[in-house]
Amino acid sequence: NRQIVVAELPKDELTSDHFAMRGVPMPVPGPGEVLLRTVLMSIDAANRSWMKGATYREAVNAGDPMPTYAVCEVVQSNSPKLNKGDLVAAESIWADYATCPAHKAQKLPDVRPVSNLLSVYGIAGKTAFHGLIGVGRPIAGETVLVSAAAGSVGGYVGQIAKALGCRVVGIAGGAEKCAWAVETLGFDACVDYRDPKMFKALKAACPDGVDVYFDNVGGTILETALFLMNERGRIVCCGAISQYDTAAPTGPRNLPGLVVVKRLRMEGFIVMDFADRDAMALRALRTWVESGRIKVFEDIVEGLENAPEALIGLLAGDNKGKRMVRVGPD
Ligand code: NDP
Repeated sequence: NRQIVVAELPKDELTSDHFAMRGVPMPVPGPGEVLLRTVLMSIDAANRSWMKGATYREAVNAGDPMPTYAVCEVVQSNSPKLNKGDLVAAESIWADYATCPAHKAQKLPDVRPVSNLLSVYGIAGKTAFHGLIGVGRPIAGETVLVSAAAGSVGGYVGQIAKALGCRVVGIAGGAEKCAWAVETLGFDACVDYRDPKMFKALKAACPDGVDVYFDNVGGTILETALFLMNERGRIVCCGAISQYDTAAPTGPRNLPGLVVVKRLRMEGFIVMDFADRDAMALRALRTWVESGRIKVFEDIVEGLENAPEALIGLLAGDNKGKRMVRVGPD
């Protein structure tokens, strides 16, 4: 049984030296617990933010195995709630095998491919749906702007907004990703944030201003988006990936000024806040996927040993769509 721990907390950019792989004994489940074999691990920008201190969950410290949301197979159960062979979603760790209290593992529906349970029917799809609809509340015809547009959450935000009849503009790193967002995901436009003329390009792409900005990145991109907001616009604060992997964060300088003058609503959320609406979100996502309105893109890295590089690469923008690591077969 292999486990990957955080060997040392990063002070600025994350590197593979911050991780160590260890051989550890096979864990033994206690009363009410299950032994899980990891199938797929979700690689999230949040993994990096947990290394910076406590967020909506406990901080990750040096010596801790990296926590992860994962799809796992139950190989031994000490609980009547779950049986050997069940496929579950659980808060687990970067490891081949781990134990978990049975009540914290959620039995998964029979969805194929199983990876969809971490992408469109997992945290990414639900975050996009709840953040856009529950917090941003767009109306058909409005302009929705979304950052990290070719990423997992951002790609679904744009496609859902299109399905709702909005004009959708993305922001992503590089011309190739921007072209992909337009040609493959169906965005109306997408602007490269590395282009020094980003503001001009965004203004041209949003001739009627921005009604909803779905912010995945924070920092200077949020600062730029604030200038484009229409009166009574909504800013959905989903994450701040530009701030996670740096020792020198750069917050927007036009806060709260523009929020006041433009009467903006700026609201953060965590996907779990909307758990009571998950069934509705999943029904809608399934309908859109089955009708072809939403395309599912997954970026699967093979092998537990490659999890650190998968996370480092996610922070550098290597991925298109939902990044995950396959540890073992379904
Ligand atoms: P993504 O699949 O979107 O991958 C992250 C992307 O962020 C990269 O591909 C990269 O694309 C972009 N990026 C990296 N660094 C920067 C930077 N400095 N400036 C701008 N863009 C950057 O990851 P996730 O879907 O996991 O996460 C997206 C966001 O959603 C994160 O902020 C995350 O914390 C948040 N989140 C929030 C949840 C909630 O409940 N509130 C739940 C899940 C995720 P590029 O090539 O375009 O730079």
